[in-house]
Amino acid sequence: MADYLISGGTGYVPEDGLTAQQLFASADGLTYNDFLILPGFIDFIADEVDLTSALTRKITLKTPLISSPMDTVTEADMAIAMAKFEQGFITDPVVLSPSHTVGDVLEAKMRHGFSGIPITETGTMGSKLVGIVTSRDIDFLAEKDHTTLLSEVMTPRIELVVAPAGVTLKEANEILQRSKKGKLPIVNDHDELVAIIARTDLKKNRDYPLASKDSHKQLLCGAAVGTREDDKYRLDLLTQAGVDVIVLDSSQGNSVYQIAMVHYIKQKYPHLQVIGGNVVTAAQAKNLIDAGVDGLRVGMGCGSICITQEVMACGRPQGTAVYKVAEYARRFGVPIIADGGIQTVGHVVKALALGASTVMMGSLLAATTEAPGEYFFSDGVRLKKYRGMGSLDAMEKSSSSQKRYFSEGDKVKIAQGVSGSIQDKGSIQKFVPYLIAGIQHGCQDIGARSLSVLRSMMYSGELKFEKRTMSAQIEGGIHGLHSYEKRLY
Ligand code: GDP
Ligand code: GDP
Ligand code: 5GP
Repeated sequence: MADYLISGGTGYVPEDGLTAQQLFASADGLTYNDFLILPGFIDFIADEVDLTSALTRKITLKTPLISSPMDTVTEADMAIAMAKFEQGFITDPVVLSPSHTVGDVLEAKMRHGFSGIPITETGTMGSKLVGIVTSRDIDFLAEKDHTTLLSEVMTPRIELVVAPAGVTLKEANEILQRSKKGKLPIVNDHDELVAIIARTDLKKNRDYPLASKDSHKQLLCGAAVGTREDDKYRLDLLTQAGVDVIVLDSSQGNSVYQIAMVHYIKQKYPHLQVIGGNVVTAAQAKNLIDAGVDGLRVGMGCGSICITQEVMACGRPQGTAVYKVAEYARRFGVPIIADGGIQTVGHVVKALALGASTVMMGSLLAATTEAPGEYFFSDGVRLKKYRGMGSLDAMEKSSSSQKRYFSEGDKVKIAQGVSGSIQDKGSIQKFVPYLIAGIQHGCQDIGARSLSVLRSMMYSGELKFEKRTMSAQIEGGIHGLHSYEKRLY
């Protein structure tokens, strides 16, 4: 077994902990609480940890967090609030070159609605920044001046306030405030333009620095459909409404119905990204990947409201499911969503460390202000309802949940979920930033500057895990106190 040489240090340290492969080599199914991650080396601040991660083959999110398609978790309010948590730098701004004309800026203004345009040598991103043109530079020019070259009206590079690539949105905001200008170009070491920031956005988006938008600057949105004939109608309506990603909602996705639906969607709407699932084994994943899915949702029976394992005898502990499916799917470039069973921000970090690209949360986001439903009081506690989509309660009220969990002709309905309540969590405007900061701190302790580094550390075997006995789990929780108050943020 290879030992590790700590460079410049005192010598070899013995092998310690288990690689993910070793951790999951035994026949026991493991879940998040059954193991810990051994800490690594920190040489960066938590705020710098890059949480960019793939949702599907083609869609990347700035934060790896998704809300569950459940009627007590996600309706429009939740979807909009969640989507706003991704992106603030404009990485594909309209750029012109010094030999473009004032007329070109006016045309850009007409077409796109803005006139703050960075000027680079070649008129493209990634080329050397040579100046900037804004409305103030061209406002009072006469018609005959429309052929004036931008090199004559632009504010030249030497006078520009810029920020270096890698700057955080917060730092960039401060620089913009100090410069009192409308745009802040971001350049790399070679003075090549990599992004811009607009003052208007910082004002507008002060609360939403990470909004996830498509190429038309619309918020990204996904929606779930079933695999029945009438779901094709819902699919058409969703597509007309501009949906970016379709989730095939099934508790056991490895079926002829789902495979046929993947084929149908890919043929009718080739641009749509399709997430298949749910699956928990590589064999299930294989069929859906072969059918052409762009992402997979992983989890069976691990949800907080779920009784599938108890009733159906099928399922898998979520840690094992995430690791096994991710390890298989990555060979085909298919990202996976760890769906269900996330109880704490630590579980999010663990899911990501086992190979998930994103996590999907039901109970963690239920009972927030943005979740559907009204608050009610019980014994003086402020609550919102949270129910499984396979609960009898949901089935009686919604036909879509029937389809995921029941067959229409079934004489006896078998519930796969329960209905309950969760204590008020306040707004996700506070809760999601807590989750984001928590993931960044977890990655910092691990020594991973980004989620892609985290995954490569895991697959290379550098990332080490350790199983936790029952008593270790008790030790890891709060213990020995007469009373305490647990405030998280
Ligand atoms: P300007 O001063 O005329 O450039 O306009 P503002 O800065 O007031 O507003 C421009 C808006 O368009 C901001 O919300 C930008 O985020 C948005 N926008 C989207 N894409 C681009 C782009 O490529 N360039 C610029 N300048 N703004 C963009
Ligand atoms: P506007 O208010 O949308 O026209 O845009 P700005 O406030 O960004 O720009 C106002 C003027 O300052 C224009 O002449 C710009 O070319 C110029 N300008 C923009 N950024 C900078 C900068 O960083 N430094 C200097 N010296 N001038 C800038
Ligand atoms: P949670 O985050 O609350 O632990 O789990 C949410 C996930 O549980 C959902 O994203 C979905 O995959 C799953 N789920 C939702 N409702 C039900 C149900 O009634 N039964 C089962 N088995 N799973 C459910």
